[in-house]
Amino acid sequence: MNYFSDADKLKAKFNGRVVGHLHTNYPIKKISWFRVGGCAELLFKPKDLNDLKKFMRIKPRNLPVTILGGASNTLIRDYGIPGVVIVLDRAFNYIKQTAVDTIECGAAVPSKKISNFALKNNLGGLSFLNTIPGTFGGAVKMNSGAYGAEVADILISARFINNKGNELECSPADICYGYRSSNISDDMICISAIIKGSIANKDEIIKEINRYKKHRDAAQPIKERTGGSTFKNPVDIKAWELIRDSGCSGLSSGDAIISGLHTNFIINKGNATAHDIELLGEKIKKRVKEKTGIDLEWEIRRIGNGPKVEL
Ligand SMILES: Cc1cc2nc3c(=O)[nH]c(=O)nc-3n(C[C@H](O)[C@H](O)[C@H](O)COP(=O)(O)OP(=O)(O)OC[C@H]3O[C@@H](n4cnc5c(N)ncnc54)[C@H](O)[C@@H]3O)c2cc1C
Repeated sequence: MNYFSDADKLKAKFNGRVVGHLHTNYPIKKISWFRVGGCAELLFKPKDLNDLKKFMRIKPRNLPVTILGGASNTLIRDYGIPGVVIVLDRAFNYIKQTAVDTIECGAAVPSKKISNFALKNNLGGLSFLNTIPGTFGGAVKMNSGAYGAEVADILISARFINNKGNELECSPADICYGYRSSNISDDMICISAIIKGSIANKDEIIKEINRYKKHRDAAQPIKERTGGSTFKNPVDIKAWELIRDSGCSGLSSGDAIISGLHTNFIINKGNATAHDIELLGEKIKKRVKEKTGIDLEWEIRRIGNGPKVEL
């Protein structure tokens, strides 16, 4: 494991000035779905919104800031993440109904919890969140979606803290959503969102959720160490079909393999490193490009430092 030798010095800049938890050389693989990756030089879990704002205001200007939710869409490289990794905690894990068909939720709320809350309150249109791992903050950034719906369809507004510690509100139009993309810059921290559902029949919502769960269980390796879809679907084609038809199924790299259930999912079957996973992804990209001429685009976010990936 690579450690950051100046991590204690970095922490000392914040000691006694913020209230939340500060951990040096935190093994970030503990929270990553892939269970790989190096350390965060400094991990900060703000106690509340004021603590987060204070941190952003007093931090050195050039300090790299990375924000993570459930790390279910992220590959953290093996040499770790320099600077600070911010993970929102309990103060940002709340849901409340603000009107008959709207919900406000903190960015640390698991997306699944929003769907369960909506079910309790007879709100339809949010069932797709039930099977998406991770937090709603991550979903807002990624425009996460499934079964024909995505965050852009339900978002009324989202609140952010910027790099200077100022709070601002954005509409979906400000965010310029596209397929699994947004223009939210990497130093903008989503703290909460307001979303809308539509009044619906509880039995119908239950049926819908069960249908989605059944499909997931059958079609995706959701209990494995994975990062979900590795690549975005090109226009009018499924990435998994391109990968299958290009004969990639047997490709591997160390303990990183392609799922037998879904060819667009890479799995860490035990002791894979982030480098193994990234290398396998690049092998897949190369093979698909050679066979079809199509350049697959990574959907999984790759962050931090690691050995060079050479094919
Ligand atoms: C088994 C499996 C199935 C999946 N299925 C789907 C699916 O059907 N549809 C789909 O769209 N995705 C899917 N994913 C991917 C992933 O679950 C979603 O993208 C999810 O919404 C990411 O949330 P997260 O909190 O884990 O984000 P992270 O992985 O922690 O972060 C993702 C990105 O969002 C940023 N981010 C995280 N939190 C915040 C915040 N508070 N403010 C600003 N930026 C933030 C990060 O910096 C990073 O750039 C799947 C993943 C797995 C492992």
